[in-house]
Amino acid sequence: MVYNTKPADSWNTCLNTTLEQEDKEIYDLIEQEKYRQFSGLELIASENFTSQAVMEANGSCLTNKYSEGLPGARYYGGNEYIDEVENICRQRALKAFNLNPEEWGVNVQPYSGSTANFAAFTALIQPHDRIMGLDLPSGGHLTHGYQTSKKKISSSSIYFESMPYQVDNATGVIDYDRLEQNAALFRPKLVICGASAYAREWDYPRFRKIADQHGAYLMCDMAHISGLVAAQEASNPFEYCDIVTTTTHKTLRGPRAGIIFFRKKNDIESRVNQAVFPSCQGGPHNNTIAGIAVALKQAGSPEFKQYAKQVRANASKLAETLTNYGYKIVTNGTDNHLVLWDLRPQKLTGSKLEKLCDLCHITLNKNAVHGDVSAVTPGGVRIGASALTSRSFKEDDFVKVGEFLHRAVQIALAAQEKAGSKLIKDFVVALEGNDDLKALHKEVQEFAKSFPMPGFDIETIKTEF
Ligand code: PLP
Repeated sequence: MVYNTKPADSWNTCLNTTLEQEDKEIYDLIEQEKYRQFSGLELIASENFTSQAVMEANGSCLTNKYSEGLPGARYYGGNEYIDEVENICRQRALKAFNLNPEEWGVNVQPYSGSTANFAAFTALIQPHDRIMGLDLPSGGHLTHGYQTSKKKISSSSIYFESMPYQVDNATGVIDYDRLEQNAALFRPKLVICGASAYAREWDYPRFRKIADQHGAYLMCDMAHISGLVAAQEASNPFEYCDIVTTTTHKTLRGPRAGIIFFRKKNDIESRVNQAVFPSCQGGPHNNTIAGIAVALKQAGSPEFKQYAKQVRANASKLAETLTNYGYKIVTNGTDNHLVLWDLRPQKLTGSKLEKLCDLCHITLNKNAVHGDVSAVTPGGVRIGASALTSRSFKEDDFVKVGEFLHRAVQIALAAQEKAGSKLIKDFVVALEGNDDLKALHKEVQEFAKSFPMPGFDIETIKTEF
């Protein structure tokens, strides 16, 4: 077949040029970000490195298509392939979590974890109904009802009445007894389990019991641990919950999006589907749904099971290494992919260690630890093993990561003393020209660059800008 190759109209020639030719500014920034990801130690617990195949699907022509509605019942024409993509994605989602399609359904259209959660609330409860989720300073997510005494922060606390539960200040483990007592007073319509910074297993039977005492729905937001759940490296929330939401880009290692799983009982299926569209969203992002489908195929492989096992082994090794240096790890260890590190015994804030680590190309985040009084200067940091495990890090490599972190703390403590003030800007000034920091930065980069990099060809990575 010979196609008509007449040139595009002049106002359309920009549609067939490469990014590098078309927009050097953005192209260069992407190249710099690529190099940053490759040459640093990525320890943010909510991040991962997705695969080349996922990125290809995500960057495909599927981004051009509108498809409001569900497969077979769209508000737009031309969806024969999009329907297949979404159906495959839905089937793979159920299969990845071993769910019987007679009992469970799934909506793969949420744009992100936050919108998945809000759609789930919209489906299950009415405005001003009462919800109970883990408090943000205890490790919960904003969308689980976060508010302060001064302000309702999350829309989940603006539109619903929120009474959080918390971890026990002495142990850092969820205080189930207090949750049960408070639930007896508050009588929630919805109880939410799942978190952003909680390193221990969830007692799903206990949550179910508490929800049942009040005829409440039980929802799990397994965003952080969904890859571990798929690999059966974490206990299974589906056995106990009515609804399970997740992001797709953390331990599950897909593109950035959200999914809602629901039990097919009463009319939950139609309520969830309606809540996603048209209540909360418009057209689904089909390129992302294709990327999720690819990630779910990968998550069903024996290699992914090995990956998830290694994530947990690496996180445990890091907790052990830091403990051996004399540091305090919240709950004294971890059951999953993350480690919460309490820096208060060192009299160092999470913000300062985060800043210092940024300067030497180790990426992690400051995080509140139980008993913290100020959310502005959290007392710890959160560290995750998922991304570096995607770069083939093993336990010994995490011992090295622990050593780098220990050095980072030593440098931070010396700079803090030199700064003579609590202010982060003085801390940064005190670090200027610091030779130990420069040496650490160099070693971190050399170490990071000795590992494979998922998703892109390291031979073509630009190293100079
Ligand atoms: N739920 C949990 C437990 C999370 O940790 C996060 C994000 O970190 C979200 C929901 C929100 O996901 P997104 O950033 O995709 O909206």
